Amino acid sequence: MIRFDDVTKTYARSAEPALSHVDLEFDRGDFVFLVGASGSGKSTLMRLVLKETVPSSGSVYVAGRDLARLPSSKIPVHRRGIGMVFQDFRLLPSKTAYQNIEFALAVIGTPRKQVRRLVPEMLEMVGLEDKGKRLPHELSGGEQQRVAIARAYVNRPAILLADEPTGNLDPATSEGILELLAEINEQGTTVVMATHDQGAVDRMSRRVVELVGGVVVRDEEHGTYQSDVPVSVISGAAGDAERDIDDPDADDVDPDVDHDADTEADSDTGTGFETADADADAADADDAAEAGERIAVVSRAGSFAVTPAADVLEEDLPEVPDPVEDRADTIDDAFEEDPR
Ligand code: ADP
Ligand code: MG
Repeated sequence: MIRFDDVTKTYARSAEPALSHVDLEFDRGDFVFLVGASGSGKSTLMRLVLKETVPSSGSVYVAGRDLARLPSSKIPVHRRGIGMVFQDFRLLPSKTAYQNIEFALAVIGTPRKQVRRLVPEMLEMVGLEDKGKRLPHELSGGEQQRVAIARAYVNRPAILLADEPTGNLDPATSEGILELLAEINEQGTTVVMATHDQGAVDRMSRRVVELVGGVVVRDEEHGTYQSDVPVSVISGAAGDAERDIDDPDADDVDPDVDHDADTEADSDTGTGFETADADADAADADDAAEAGERIAVVSRAGSFAVTPAADVLEEDLPEVPDPVEDRADTIDDAFEEDPR
């Protein structure tokens, strides 16, 4: 479904790569937690899947397609096959819950009759059947995130990417959001969730991929938030300051535009460790593994087999009708046009 083949991403004017030699494979129906300190590369990994940014080297495959071969004209269709949920919800502030969900259908030209069936269905699925007429500011954070999930899922995407979806929510509310994502996953959608929510990761016991300084240091099938072996010792990442480096503007990046200028300040991670050290320390981890030490941490190569390009899944993204002219192409475009 998603495959990273030796992917390195170095942003313009950054000395250190945001992702370094990442080999990963997420299968259809997987539920994967991406963990790691702020600045470790979680959002970059998601942007690569969306082709919001492109690798410096290596290849990203989605549904069997090498994204490097995806023409820019096909990018909007590609993105419509992927639901996206953010920490800050990104609902259209002047539209009701109903209209926010409806909008995701309208941009792909869904017939009105179908819209009238699907939107109430989604509102019910996320437990907001009686709140469709509310504006985002009339909803709690958890309710807003439910609307955002409904909007991301209404087209039944094969993939749902959730970037710290519970980052702004209290633990009880987060639990409900996790249940919803698990339900979506059970219906066959591959869910990849970046998170700092230790409770959620430990409770769910799903696959955990951990990044340190852009390097995959752990890939466990039924993982917990913290590895058995203290990664902080291996990686030198101890004491990372929790710092939200996410610039809301930085997410609207386009591969054709030089988008690095306004985020340049972010490229100094301030995460308290040097990637070079992380590399050296990852090598130490290899040595430790060779020496037979207890080491659940997987080094950069990852523990999941990398299949040759010819073996990647043949299936395509879900069929979607051509976009309707004169309508905003993506949720993000609309968001731009409808600022808070
Ligand atoms: P995470 O989501 O794990 O916090 P990110 O993927 O956002 O990490 O960031 C990884 C690294 O890449 C950080 O050093 C960050 O500063 C840098 N980075 C992210 N986006 C950009 C950008 N648009 N331009 C330059 N550097 C960036
Ligand atoms: Mg991030």
